Amino acid sequence: MDIRFVKRDQLKEKPDWNNLGFGKYMSDYMFVMDWSKEKGWYDPRIVPYGPVEFEPATVVLHYAQETFEGMKAYRTAEGKIQLFRPEMNARRMNKSNERICMPEIPEEMFIEAVEALVKVEKDWVPTAENTSYYIRPFCFACESSLGVHMATAYKFMVIGCPVGAYYPTGLDPVKILVEDELVRAVKGGTGFTKCGGNYAGSILGQIKAEKLGYTQVLWLDGETRTYVEEVGTMNIMFKINGEIYTAPIEGTVLPGITRDSMITLLRDWGYKVNETHLSVHDLMKAGHDGTLEEVFGTGTAAVISPVGELRYKDDEVVINDFKTGELTQKLYDTLTDIQWGRAEDKYGWIRPVEV
Ligand SMILES: *Cc1c(COP(=O)(O)O)cnc(C)c1O
Repeated sequence: MDIRFVKRDQLKEKPDWNNLGFGKYMSDYMFVMDWSKEKGWYDPRIVPYGPVEFEPATVVLHYAQETFEGMKAYRTAEGKIQLFRPEMNARRMNKSNERICMPEIPEEMFIEAVEALVKVEKDWVPTAENTSYYIRPFCFACESSLGVHMATAYKFMVIGCPVGAYYPTGLDPVKILVEDELVRAVKGGTGFTKCGGNYAGSILGQIKAEKLGYTQVLWLDGETRTYVEEVGTMNIMFKINGEIYTAPIEGTVLPGITRDSMITLLRDWGYKVNETHLSVHDLMKAGHDGTLEEVFGTGTAAVISPVGELRYKDDEVVINDFKTGELTQKLYDTLTDIQWGRAEDKYGWIRPVEV
């Protein structure tokens, strides 16, 4: 790709690396590329981060034809910058785009766009321990027309921001509410895609959980509200009697890259991983009879999120005395060591960015 570059007059001031939070400080530039039927993807460019103009009748504002990805660039102790399995994000975005009827972005083009932005923004990849540069590629319909149909104009953009260590003081277990009324996804729907509409529909559940003092929602299957699927923006795994259980990838659950990486590590370590339907009744029963040993969510933002308490209707279970489990900690340490270049990458997951 021949990427055009439009320089900013003045660079922004960098925030304090030790107080970044999540998604608050957008960096100086963004990648933009347009699509039309005649030209395909055209005019790839890196321009100053700022407002995007479009008409009020723009398709995405009405019918939510939008998909996104979430990934990170990590700074190693030697000062190098690296990405973690970016080809998985590229592939997943295309699966999402296919479902939402948006044009494919060739894998190499997606990775090139991400790398180009990271190179320009190399000084925004923070150096404090366990911080990273969060990258948000996204794609949306920008044609102006109120008809519900496949749009004829799209944009692909990549923005990024430095983000803090998710757990500045070490892994901290969270309380999770099993949602027994609202649903997130059904077979045949869009549950397996990272499309904006999925998240709009999930906010009500999140508010309900927060009102009751819980951090996140655990969604059940949309048809019978019986089987555990996933958390708001994380997949979830259960260690019961020494074996791991997690929902299968069958169209309703987001195929997490962290999930896939954890399963690889676990199988490598000899654990039996069951990608199967686990009913909330069996889960709560395991919680009460002492066989539910550990529960953790997996996702790019937090890597791993230990669950200390689960509530389903009036039933509550505390897991591992509300302490981070041994296996949870080992998975977190192993994966973050690979991501930040502190351990050997024997799985070929790291892609260095030459700056
Ligand atoms: C992004 C996301 C995940 C986690 O995916 P990763 O690739 O591991 O970051 C899980 N569930 C949902 C609903 C998500 O949006």
